[in-house]
Amino acid sequence: MNARQPVPPRKLETAAERWSRFKPIKTGEDYLNSLRGRPLKLFLFGKEEPNPVDNPLIRPSMNALRQTYDLAIEDPELATAHSPLINARVNRFLHIVESPEDLVQKNKMQRRMGQLTGTCFQRCAGLDTISVMHSITYDIDQKHKTPYHARFLDFLKKAQANNIIIGAGMTDPKGDRSKRPHEQADPDLFLRITGRNDKGIFVTGAKAHMTGGLNSHWIFVMPTMNLGPEDKDWAVVGAVPADAEGITYIYGRQSCDTRALEGGNIDVGNAEYGGQETLTVFDHVFIPYEHVFMDGEYEFAQEMVARFTSYHRASYVCKTGLGDVMVGAAAAVAEYNGVEKVSHIKDKLVEMTHLNETIFSSGIASSYSAKKLPSGIFMNDSMLANVCKHNVTRFPYEIARLAQDIAGGIMVTLPSEQDFNHEEAGPILEKYLKGVSNVPTETRVRMLRLIENMTLGRNAVGYLTESMHGAGSPQAQRIQIQRQMDVEKKKWYARRLAGIKQES
Ligand code: SF4
Ligand code: FE
Repeated sequence: MNARQPVPPRKLETAAERWSRFKPIKTGEDYLNSLRGRPLKLFLFGKEEPNPVDNPLIRPSMNALRQTYDLAIEDPELATAHSPLINARVNRFLHIVESPEDLVQKNKMQRRMGQLTGTCFQRCAGLDTISVMHSITYDIDQKHKTPYHARFLDFLKKAQANNIIIGAGMTDPKGDRSKRPHEQADPDLFLRITGRNDKGIFVTGAKAHMTGGLNSHWIFVMPTMNLGPEDKDWAVVGAVPADAEGITYIYGRQSCDTRALEGGNIDVGNAEYGGQETLTVFDHVFIPYEHVFMDGEYEFAQEMVARFTSYHRASYVCKTGLGDVMVGAAAAVAEYNGVEKVSHIKDKLVEMTHLNETIFSSGIASSYSAKKLPSGIFMNDSMLANVCKHNVTRFPYEIARLAQDIAGGIMVTLPSEQDFNHEEAGPILEKYLKGVSNVPTETRVRMLRLIENMTLGRNAVGYLTESMHGAGSPQAQRIQIQRQMDVEKKKWYARRLAGIKQES
């Protein structure tokens, strides 16, 4: 093990003390207020940012999460569900999966959220984590007589009652990819247990590109891959408040992010909503035993990751909501350019829609094919979830390409908002950048900026690169598809029809 810098003594907060800082959140506005005044340590552009809520670069990512609260009020049928745990309706982002229909509703809600925000709304990894934890804690208890399931249910009841955001910390930095956690030159490259006492454990490490980390109230840390007996210290699952002592966030840059600091609201493309990823560092962070849900049971890490990926890869139907926005933006720009009736434009919109609905169909089919797990909840079909996510690694790129094709080169040669506002340059731009005569130039510019935002700018992270790498990069799905494709059975079908004598 590496020599470590001494860590200042941590305050050993009890589970009850940690929960006492929360009060139930109802509205989106309550949510924003719940993020104020927390003692977070956050770095952005080489400085500590003490007030992320009012930082114009960060705020759009919080607005996307705010929408998960507002949708629950506007459309409770879609975005809330009855929880038998607390016998009340709860936000669907905190509901465990009791039936295939719950998974289908989840997918419909994710598509709706994508339509409303045009970005990653950051709450689904936490949602999928709670179903994974429900089932895996049950399974661990069956084998080891541990108390994890009851602890987890207790945590979840409080999470539901307070309507909190759960962030999922799964992806370790991983260092040398050819080495196991215990073989790494620096053991912190996978998050691990670095201390314990009679009250709880301490964890050290980092979680990379964590979605919505600092917009969350609680973070679940959990292993990122299968582990062996020598990796026991790395086999840890626990929940910590996002502002726990010892956590540091370093904000991830996004393409064109500083446009949010320019003061206007056109050039950003989507002024209201954005995604967020951070490198989240844990330096000897304390977790009381009440919030520890795996502590050395390394043999369950692989199954835990497999269940998470199964749930989460179907959650990527979220991107079909963004795809709906892309189709709409391309169709609107075609109209502003006066080409909406041209046959190849209509055909491109059909192609975009076909690709988008293909993603949705694999995700929703995965949910309808869910099966019951021993803990009593349901898990969606893994093969179809992997197919869904694999579609997501490709089709949004083609949809984006077609949207750019329809938008035309003006999308990337438009002058700035300040030039449009300039007394001399403005009228010139107004005259020469007009499309059809009955649509204001600004309307056309706004739509072009939205397409730029989603295909090249800030929300291209959410629409394109996250589609590629989120919930596992493309090869991870191909491995799962290969594992489950049962080619021997398929050969048997073929041999039978070809009249070849079957061995078995
Ligand atoms: Fe949810 Fe999609 Fe963002 Fe994942 S990428 S958190 S599934 S919106
Ligand atoms: Fe994601």
